[in-house]
Amino acid sequence: MERVFVTRSLPGTALDELRQTGYRVDVWPEFLAPPREVLLERVRGAAGLITMLEDRVDAELMDAAGPGLKVIAQYAVGLDNIDLEAAKKRGIVVTHTPGVLTDATADLAFALLAAAARRVVEGHDYVRRGEWKTWHPELLLGPELHGATVGVVGFGRIGQAFAHRARGFEMKVLYTSRRPKPEAEAALAAERVELDELLARADFVSLHTPLTPETHRLMNAERLARMKEGAVLVNTARGKVVDTEALLDALEHGPLFAAGLDVTDPEPLPAGHPLSRHPRVVVTPHIGSAGHATRLHMAEMVARDVLAVLQGRPPRYPATPA
Ligand code: NAP
Repeated sequence: MERVFVTRSLPGTALDELRQTGYRVDVWPEFLAPPREVLLERVRGAAGLITMLEDRVDAELMDAAGPGLKVIAQYAVGLDNIDLEAAKKRGIVVTHTPGVLTDATADLAFALLAAAARRVVEGHDYVRRGEWKTWHPELLLGPELHGATVGVVGFGRIGQAFAHRARGFEMKVLYTSRRPKPEAEAALAAERVELDELLARADFVSLHTPLTPETHRLMNAERLARMKEGAVLVNTARGKVVDTEALLDALEHGPLFAAGLDVTDPEPLPAGHPLSRHPRVVVTPHIGSAGHATRLHMAEMVARDVLAVLQGRPPRYPATPA
């Protein structure tokens, strides 16, 4: 019986279809990721793997699985943890879960923007500490959302969905992308500009690129310094797109008013890290796609694509390099 190893439990019953079709499905039962040596051991002999963004899926792992490994289905969008070249060389199909998590992630990006700008978490902490003694004209002021200019870096599925939300708040949308997007540009009344211009003009900057050698620390000290005075940075892309030290410095001594982060570098953030202690940084633990329906749908996508490849059919969501 061919075996599929799943590196975390998944919501719903999507894996049942694999079991009912005659595959042995072996699920890592613990909340934390399997330690590397355990992972290397557990993948041995697997025909399929369902992986998460914390798993390093490299040549070593593929070789540990052995020559019977046919498919790796990533329960995420963003393939920076997977060596696609190594998979290709070994004839292993890689799939992912694009599209279905677009709206959930854009929702969270917008929630972080609003929370960071309007000091929602700071206000909540203030109330919780018992400091709410009066209404005051100067208490917890922050930048306005409506009528502001938002800069979207990476105008793909999530970037455009985020821009759509920004339009609902009567924001002007600027974007930067490798290729122009004329249709989305027209639909969202968006203006394509170079990154430097976007940083200089936007009140809010939201990051939506994949993590690639090109976008690694795209938001470095120099670029953060070019942001508009009082701007807010939102990152739901990948932690390493931002230089953490430079971000902290830009919050203390540079133009940044606040930041909303669903992804960080390092990730997870160790307890007491300056980012989690900073009053004007709102951090969520990489939960962009964590909507009930979205996570169920993602589970169905990976299970069906694993089944397709193991049965000799093409997958519906093959991964392509960013
Ligand atoms: P997508 O549709 O492929 O969009 C990515 C966009 O980034 C593309 O339009 C691409 O531009 C653009 N891009 C790539 N390199 C760029 C660069 N150097 N400068 C400017 N733009 C660049 O992907 P998506 O579904 O929107 O997802 C985007 C990323 O979000 C994922 O890769 C993942 O890292 C992250 N994500 C996070 C969560 C979360 O839980 N926080 C959830 C899902 C995804 P072109 O079209 O011009 O090539």
